[in-house]
Amino acid sequence: MAVSKTHSAESIAEAVASGVTLFGENRVQDFEAKRARLLELGVSGAEFHLVGHLQSNKSNKAAELFTGIDSLDSTRLAERLNDAAGRLGKSLYVLLEMKLSAEPTKTGLDPDGPELHDLLDRLPSLEHLRMRGLMTIAPLDENPETAHACFRQLRGLQKRLMLGFPRLDFSELSMGMSGDFELAIEEGSTLVRIGTALFGERPRLR
Ligand SMILES: *Cc1c(COP(=O)(O)O)cnc(C)c1O
Repeated sequence: MAVSKTHSAESIAEAVASGVTLFGENRVQDFEAKRARLLELGVSGAEFHLVGHLQSNKSNKAAELFTGIDSLDSTRLAERLNDAAGRLGKSLYVLLEMKLSAEPTKTGLDPDGPELHDLLDRLPSLEHLRMRGLMTIAPLDENPETAHACFRQLRGLQKRLMLGFPRLDFSELSMGMSGDFELAIEEGSTLVRIGTALFGERPRLR
């Protein structure tokens, strides 16, 4: 996945022309403006997923703009997205974002908390959501062993959940970014999310 957040529609068009078919964006509003520009540029054939945190009051817009939400982190949000997708007559791919480190700025589901089980019990009946797997962001740390451990933990969780929830698909493991994708692939990543290494440095976010 090419993570195109903060980069222009023109950069996305160039990537599509080079054969990239899957993009990640992190903000609903930013992508809304870009999508209008992509339509003007005549870009088609690419899929866009949201990889950033989504507030449930933006779920209607998100369901309209994206084909997948790779940062699903609550039952309430899942229900909102399911309703929105139903009204649009579409299905949305979803990945559950797992919070595997104690960093306070990170979002995602606690692997040992009640919300995860609640959501997994609820997902089979949300017929407009297509559960595909798990996503995580490794903690920022100079020591590569930290990322290794985090990715290994996600794979372990996948195995455990596959046994506990056999009706759900956990096959996708979205892990690894520009700085740690090799480690993530070693640990079984099926989907790396690459921003900087493809598009260059991002301007500083507010
Ligand atoms: C920005 C971002 C990426 C890409 O990060 P790079 O280090 O630029 O490759 C991947 N995943 C998520 C969720 C992001 O927000």
